[in-house]
Amino acid sequence: MRNAASTTPSVTTAAREIDSRSRAPDLAWHGISSDAALDALRTNVDGLFEHEAARRLETYGPNRLPEGPRRSALTRFLLQFHNLLIYVLLAAGVLAAMIGHGTDALVIFAVVLVNAIIGFIQEGRAEKALDAIRAMIDPHASLIRDGRRVTIAADKVVPGDIVLLEAGDRVPADLRLVKARNLRVDEAILTGESVPVDKAVKAVETTAALGDRFPMAFSGTFVTTGQGTGVVVATGPATELGRISSMIGAVERLATPLVRQMDQFARQVTVAVLGISALVFVYAVVMQAYGLDDALMAVVGLAVAAIPEGLPAVMTITLAVGVQRMARRNAIIRRLPAVETLGSVSVICSDKTGTLTRNEMTVRNVVTADRTMAVEGSGYRPEGHFRSEAGEPLDPAADPVLEELSLAALLCNDAGLRQSGEDWTVDGDPMEGALVSFAIKAGHDAVAARVGFPRLDEIPFDSRHRYMATLNARSGHAPVAYVKGAPERVLQMCTHVATPEGERRLDREAWHRQVDQLAMNGLRVIALARRTMKDGEHAVTPSDIEHELTLLGLVGLIDPARPEAISAIAECKAAGVRVKMITGDHAATARAIAAQLGLADDPKAITGQELDALENARFRENACEATVFARTSPEHKLRLVEALQADGSVIAMTGDGVNDAPALKRADVGVAMGGKGTEAAKEASEMVLADDNFASIVAAVREGRTVYDNLTKVIAWTLPTNGGEAFTIILAILFGLTLPVTPVQILWINMITAVALGLTLAFEPTEPGAMRRPARPANQRILSGRLLWRILLVSALMVVGTFGVFAWATERGVPLETARTMAVNTIVVMEIFYLFSVRYVHGTSLTWQGVLGTRAVLIGVATVIVAQFAFTYLPPMQAVFATRPVPLGDGVAIVAVGVVLFAIVEAEKRIAALVSLRRD
Ligand code: ADP
Ligand code: MG
Repeated sequence: MRNAASTTPSVTTAAREIDSRSRAPDLAWHGISSDAALDALRTNVDGLFEHEAARRLETYGPNRLPEGPRRSALTRFLLQFHNLLIYVLLAAGVLAAMIGHGTDALVIFAVVLVNAIIGFIQEGRAEKALDAIRAMIDPHASLIRDGRRVTIAADKVVPGDIVLLEAGDRVPADLRLVKARNLRVDEAILTGESVPVDKAVKAVETTAALGDRFPMAFSGTFVTTGQGTGVVVATGPATELGRISSMIGAVERLATPLVRQMDQFARQVTVAVLGISALVFVYAVVMQAYGLDDALMAVVGLAVAAIPEGLPAVMTITLAVGVQRMARRNAIIRRLPAVETLGSVSVICSDKTGTLTRNEMTVRNVVTADRTMAVEGSGYRPEGHFRSEAGEPLDPAADPVLEELSLAALLCNDAGLRQSGEDWTVDGDPMEGALVSFAIKAGHDAVAARVGFPRLDEIPFDSRHRYMATLNARSGHAPVAYVKGAPERVLQMCTHVATPEGERRLDREAWHRQVDQLAMNGLRVIALARRTMKDGEHAVTPSDIEHELTLLGLVGLIDPARPEAISAIAECKAAGVRVKMITGDHAATARAIAAQLGLADDPKAITGQELDALENARFRENACEATVFARTSPEHKLRLVEALQADGSVIAMTGDGVNDAPALKRADVGVAMGGKGTEAAKEASEMVLADDNFASIVAAVREGRTVYDNLTKVIAWTLPTNGGEAFTIILAILFGLTLPVTPVQILWINMITAVALGLTLAFEPTEPGAMRRPARPANQRILSGRLLWRILLVSALMVVGTFGVFAWATERGVPLETARTMAVNTIVVMEIFYLFSVRYVHGTSLTWQGVLGTRAVLIGVATVIVAQFAFTYLPPMQAVFATRPVPLGDGVAIVAVGVVLFAIVEAEKRIAALVSLRRD
């Protein structure tokens, strides 16, 4: 059958064509029949052989759009110089050279170069790290190859491949549909039309516009409902998407609201500093009788000192470090601003199944018309006995109702079990896998049953109608429809119940009580029912089964809570983050699981139906109060997000299906499941969980808070150290004092030591109390009053320290050069001590941990100390920077100044903490 012999000459021509060109034949695929398309691509519905697919991959290349023009390394390097401060510096260097300050000019150029190299390397590392993380969520596609269903990376798809589509999938390449069932595709990305298009297999006019090519599914569009199969006709740049998209693949800029805010702040400061520098220059020349060249150099020093040129870069690196840390904890950031938002999340709305629970289901109980049974065994291993309520062993084969119920569980089911060594795993939905295992325990042969009762038609499961139905043929009998689904739903459709003696009327109330009984123990309950159809029937529609079903019985499944989720929920409580469970499951089941997870002692649950009955104000109230939302549809998620946001909360919301996409988009942080999530959900979300685990969301929140703290630390360190240096120069000029540090020395401090020290704060670990304080208000300004006060205080302390040491030295008659060397070292020592202090925003730094520091801090500090010794004692450096060796005793005194600064800042922290305690 495979690669069916091509009979018509035209098809043979097409086949030859496909071999000789590196593009698939460019036919009007929508205008020919699907069989003709399969023939032209020399394939059939069983798919390509692997070796043929490999060969075609060679010929046609990967199914990827060419990347947008990347900035080359050279451009990136040159861009490092594209900065107002650097222009000012370069101009100053040229001026310095022109007025004969050759050494100063060289130092300026050297510093600019070193700064650019450091920035280049760091930025490159940050970009590479983010690329690597993005690659972790590369899309996949489901195909038929060699007659088997496989999932492969979407860029390995080749022309001729048979692709399977279902709701939520992103179409991996341009397809000519071969099968379509209720298939609807959102083609907004291509046509701008936001209403999904109904797809069908039948050919259309060759002249049809893109939006009217119904038998085609185009790369990059999303399946909103239904199922389909299509043959790949074009991949990569040859697709319709590839034709229009030179802009797709443009690199996302490393920018977030905070970075932009600080970027703007840095620019404002730069402009202000340039203005002030001009004034100071005039003042120095006119009032203080500075020579033009001295005044110029002093002003250059002032500008360099005051402008926080490194700040945006260090902040970006801090974010990149945060993204990497989150990825290590299985939380993959898709949009960079989420890193900041995560730190202020105050409500997490989480799915139950698979996120809070393990999604490893096992059937525990079966209830039929005349008895309740327990099923033994663990996991998916299809071994275990049936016991009566009293604990006596039962023979499943002796019970005709159990026999049919388990057959229904097996046939109305898309999952398969696979044994690998001792382990049994599921292909498909875990709950369905558990039902397969259950059916085998009841004595069925999974393969034989599915061959013996072939499926004629089906209604796939949808979280809105909450059931699934199949139509199965039976030899010698009329076909039968089997239905499985949420018990309220199925019971409503049933009129009778099966007993060993035949059917009898259904006592719905009694069955609802049975359901509650199972659900209260935390079991997920599924009802199974049948309807015998007319002879010759080959299709099943909702109207066939929505009444007159015969109930076969109920099945109760356990789905254990994830142990990590329990501790993560406890962590959320301490951190002031509320957790809400949103599930399609039964309210009693959800409440029992919520209690097991420690969400609340007696969790308040509300169902989707109850929510629908509420008007807006009451809806919002309930959204805030309840912890469990049961029997909800994806539409409820959107309303919940909106209600909670209106209440001022910052929300992380999980989701996996295509219908979850609007809620994911609306949430402050949409969280898609990496494993069971659809491409549509991932596309709509800010973050993807590699392990589908609730604990990973909490880990990401913790890292988000850490990132915010570290950004604060970077700012709290950079601004006062800049300020201290700048005020030192301004004061000296204002009062006509000798400059305690020369302009080149300021350059040295600012561009060498400051980078090495400031950068270390990007790598700070989480502070101990980070998850024991409430979430930061979303609108909190990073430059808070407290931070501004701290900046002023430390700037003042740095000025006093520098002038103090300089004055103390000159007073004693120490030569000017030595006094200046001491002043420079004082500034650096104070910066080091302040670094240790700033590492703990919310607590004292006087702990072992605080004193020992991180590896980054130790490397940074060690580098700076070595650099300072070289600066002070190495003759070539002495020649360039006009430094002199500092005697040991004076060195000790300088360190003492640092200790005093540290003590004052720590004392201030303590007092501020006491004051804010008093205030609360
Ligand atoms: P959850 O939030 O727990 O993932 P779902 O929306 O997946 O909820 O499922 C809601 C309900 O629909 C389940 O409690 C179950 O009764 C029923 N259900 C789930 N999956 C299937 C399925 N594959 N076939 C039939 N019914 C299902
Ligand atoms: Mg589910």
